[in-house]
Amino acid sequence: MSSEDKKHITLVHGAGGKAMHELVKRYILKYFSTRAVEPVVPVPLEALDDAAVVGDTVFKSDSHAVKPIFFPGGDIGRLAVCGTVNDIAVLGAEPVALACGFILEEGLPFSDFEKILSSMKKACEEAEVNVVTGDTKVVEKGALGGCVINVSGMGKRTEALEHNLAVVRKYRPSFKARWVLDSNLRAGDKIILSGTLGDHGLAVLSAQEGITFGSSIVSDVKPLNHMIKRLLGEVGGILAMKDPTRGGLADALNEWNQKSHIGILIYENRIPIKPDVRAACEMLGIDPLEVGNEGKIIIGAVPEKAEQILETLKSTEEGKDAEIIGEATDEFDAVAMQTVVGGKRIIAQPLGDPIPRIC
Ligand code: MG
Repeated sequence: MSSEDKKHITLVHGAGGKAMHELVKRYILKYFSTRAVEPVVPVPLEALDDAAVVGDTVFKSDSHAVKPIFFPGGDIGRLAVCGTVNDIAVLGAEPVALACGFILEEGLPFSDFEKILSSMKKACEEAEVNVVTGDTKVVEKGALGGCVINVSGMGKRTEALEHNLAVVRKYRPSFKARWVLDSNLRAGDKIILSGTLGDHGLAVLSAQEGITFGSSIVSDVKPLNHMIKRLLGEVGGILAMKDPTRGGLADALNEWNQKSHIGILIYENRIPIKPDVRAACEMLGIDPLEVGNEGKIIIGAVPEKAEQILETLKSTEEGKDAEIIGEATDEFDAVAMQTVVGGKRIIAQPLGDPIPRIC
């Protein structure tokens, strides 16, 4: 992907990596930057976490422009609901209500619109949350590819979150944060990945290009709030969580490195990737670590609780392929991977996800 054009927005600015982070910092933060103000806005825009916190309410907005709008394992409607639900859940909150804005393109068949709405309803039922307000606009036929959907949402504190924080403080008495945040990691914390990488990005790519990479490649798009609530309430000790969407694991870990000011070491042989996904990535020259996921989380946890978190994850359908993939370290200030051949390589922040318009 090229970012040589310095005067205009390009597709790479929407691909979730370095280019998008720069766009957000250089333009959006320039106009809307706010610092944390306790207790009014404890987690502000400037934290650039998965969601903000206003008072005791988690607040999130997420737009979806996936192309095409239907792909193996999901569609734009399911993606829009799950994206917002998961971004709220990874701060440790429970989603309570969603708002939905549709921008529909002239010519979209009613049958497709209804398919999308019914898929959204099913995702809402799975997550046990509902759409309570919204808006609909229609634009002339053009480049939308059918429709664009924004879903915003609110989340609240739960007893599960309080339990989680109490467990953290047992092992780290100086811990003060009231939410599960990207900036909470310290040296020694374990990094856990809830399942296989790359499934969503490759499923969308196969729909974009009209090719089949292997029957097992379907999107992992799923609401993860129930699984997360169980981890917080039954185990605890979780400091940071993130859904590795656009830019994949590589981008998510680099965000932790930058916000927690801590090095991260992961082990290549512990990273779960399906054989079909690995083969397709090799064929296409794509790094699966940079490909977006929509049904996975990474967890940073106190080392004393990592094994128990892993066991609990493995007992769920969504987390059955989970692994402890590494740890935070103060030996270096970067994201590095111990490779299967024994060397170490730096995992740089990708410029953008190698696959365009995957969410
Ligand atoms: Mg996120």
